[in-house]
Amino acid sequence: MSPVRRDIPGGDVVTEMLGKAKFWEPAEQGKVRCGLCPHSCLVPAGKTGICRVRENRGGTLYALNYNLATSLALDPVEKKPLYHVHPGGYLLSAGTFGCNFRCRFCQNWQISQDRPRTVAITAGELVESALAQRKRYPALVGMAYTYNEPTVWIEFVLEAAARAKEEGLVNALVTNGYISRPALREVLQSVDALNIDVKAWNEDFYRRLTGGRLKPVLETVEESLKHAWVEVTYLVIPGENDSQEEVAALARHLASLSPSVPVHLSRFFPNYRMGGEPTPLETLERLRDVCREHLHHVYIGNAARPGYADTPCPECGTTLLKRDGLALERAFLTPDGDCPECGRPLEMLGQVWL
Ligand code: SF4
Repeated sequence: MSPVRRDIPGGDVVTEMLGKAKFWEPAEQGKVRCGLCPHSCLVPAGKTGICRVRENRGGTLYALNYNLATSLALDPVEKKPLYHVHPGGYLLSAGTFGCNFRCRFCQNWQISQDRPRTVAITAGELVESALAQRKRYPALVGMAYTYNEPTVWIEFVLEAAARAKEEGLVNALVTNGYISRPALREVLQSVDALNIDVKAWNEDFYRRLTGGRLKPVLETVEESLKHAWVEVTYLVIPGENDSQEEVAALARHLASLSPSVPVHLSRFFPNYRMGGEPTPLETLERLRDVCREHLHHVYIGNAARPGYADTPCPECGTTLLKRDGLALERAFLTPDGDCPECGRPLEMLGQVWL
């Protein structure tokens, strides 16, 4: 991830910005119990929780990354990926550092597991920056909290999302879904769209390779679907989570919640602490076909091949949205957002920007 640009208002390089944390309570002997994610860490004085960014100082829990950013960029919605949220639009995307998972295959480990350089920025400054840029780029439709795990930046995210919502901007969260129910409930008051990583259909995978659990993630998907637009990313790692039976079980589960949930099967490349070979394209195509038996919209990501990122009509197969890599190239929808051949409406949040 490239370092943050320097023209953010107030953007001096700083190393620490304490903010009093939300979602915790005092416990015995000066400890505190964090309630932000399902780890529920009992944090002794002077220590941090598993995420290493929430620290007990004198019996009070603080967020160490409160008004700090490591990355800020204007990204296409397709990069999140959120293919059905204002297709062709852009999101001012911000991230900090820290994560409540320890994925051995992390693609952003420099900011999730390490302590990179940061700049100071308040939630208000971030939203002001978006509003200023929207004057030049009308396709800037909102904000994304992304790059590292936004759950461990919750205080900043809640402030920024509430402010952005007041200004009519969309808020999107790119998350591992490992968040407590009270925190999720609060997030969903301002967040319109989520891309949630489901990393496997297998508790053993989660325990061995992420340090988390699958069940709370599935609960986040289910709860989020009641209030927001949800897309799911599944990174296919050869030999670890590429079983046809498991992927079919996940697809059936998602379909039972809503067959319109878009699923992005993402190609694995060796990174961080996991070697091996990139996912064969044949595996991705086979799993895409398996998912399509249950779900309307299934994509292959992280692999630039013609057609992988296009949106066909689930009813008649007509191409509705044509993409070249992360760019929306053409839209063939009617002005009402329907398929021009069979008239089926395309499920999406917002409008197409071309
Ligand atoms: S956010 Fe999760 S990992 Fe971090 S301190 Fe709280 S409970 Fe622990």
